[in-house]
Amino acid sequence: MIDNNSGKGLSFVRRIYLPRFLGMGIGLFCVMAAMAPLQPPTWVWVLMLVNAVAWPHLAYQWAMRSAAPYRAEQRNLLLDSLMGGFWTAAFHFNPLPSVTILSMMAMNNVAAGGKRMVIRGLLAQLVGMLLASLVIGTGLQLQATPLQVFACLPMLTLYPLALGWVCYRLAIKLADHKRQLSALSRTDSLTGLLNHGSWKDLLLLKFQICRQQQLPAVIALIDIDHFKTINDTFGHVVGDCVLRHLSQELRRNLREDDLGGRYGGDEFCVIFPNIDEARAGQAMERLRERVNAYRNPQLPALRISLSIGLAAFNAELKSAEHWLEEADKALYAAKHQGRDQVNFNRGGGAPLRLAYPE
Ligand code: GH3
Ligand code: MG
Repeated sequence: MIDNNSGKGLSFVRRIYLPRFLGMGIGLFCVMAAMAPLQPPTWVWVLMLVNAVAWPHLAYQWAMRSAAPYRAEQRNLLLDSLMGGFWTAAFHFNPLPSVTILSMMAMNNVAAGGKRMVIRGLLAQLVGMLLASLVIGTGLQLQATPLQVFACLPMLTLYPLALGWVCYRLAIKLADHKRQLSALSRTDSLTGLLNHGSWKDLLLLKFQICRQQQLPAVIALIDIDHFKTINDTFGHVVGDCVLRHLSQELRRNLREDDLGGRYGGDEFCVIFPNIDEARAGQAMERLRERVNAYRNPQLPALRISLSIGLAAFNAELKSAEHWLEEADKALYAAKHQGRDQVNFNRGGGAPLRLAYPE
């Protein structure tokens, strides 16, 4: 069966490795101190060492090489719990080492798999206890010696620190992923500019700011002339390159505060805050000229021209949509007047664009 969680599984396995390595290493003192007075047979000492020293690396390799690392690591965690239960029964439930080992394991299980993992871990511990009583017998030892108390201290202090550190790193990583996802959801994948939705949100925001503070601003709609013909003549891959080239030129022509976006298809949009009509017009004229001058040695016949419509904010605009309509009218007029030009809408009731004239 294909494990479509393998990406998630591998990072899960890596995340568990350090806490297990540390936990088993310092837990060894605890178990050794509790077992020593019972004078167990040699094989029990060997098992103790294998469990503490070799198992974290074996568990890591076993899960990393597995076809389903996430599930393999859950199995490893259950084996951890099983061995935890085994040792508590083996050292006759000596209270402090038992509570130390079982509670650290519960903390590990809840961090790794929530309630379900805690319950499964408890069952595995019970199985471990049963196994120990069958194999080496068990009893009850309710007194902890001072050595046993000291042997538990590293586990009680260092292990929560290590686990807390791992959880903190995970939280930082998640916050970072959240930021990246949020940026992706606002970006047009082909051009890297703002996408339609986020650009319109910003337009609404800028409109409100301009209205409240009486600040100047200009918006521009940019449309590639006869882009359909470019696609039909040179293919969609070249069409995509043209869109990317325009977005790069657009970025080069914008100031830091200007907001460039892809409105959709071959149409781009810009908000120029704190600018007068003339300067916004000059920036767009520069863009038109630069894009017009583009030549591709492999495609000598390729020419790109732009029609651009601009509209400045004014107090009579009723809404952001109305502002956009004004820019759209200017773009319509640019198309109507022969394309390859920058046009300003200075008010007046030109009809809304229905289709560009040929
Ligand atoms: P006009 O001068 O009137 O603007 O003519 P036009 O051909 O540019 O106008 P139209 O809106 O009819 O064509 C836009 C074309 O853009 C149609 C669509 O197939 C194409 N298009 C939209 N999105 C993409 C894209 O992501 N990549 C490519 N290659 N083409 C796209
Ligand atoms: Mg077009």
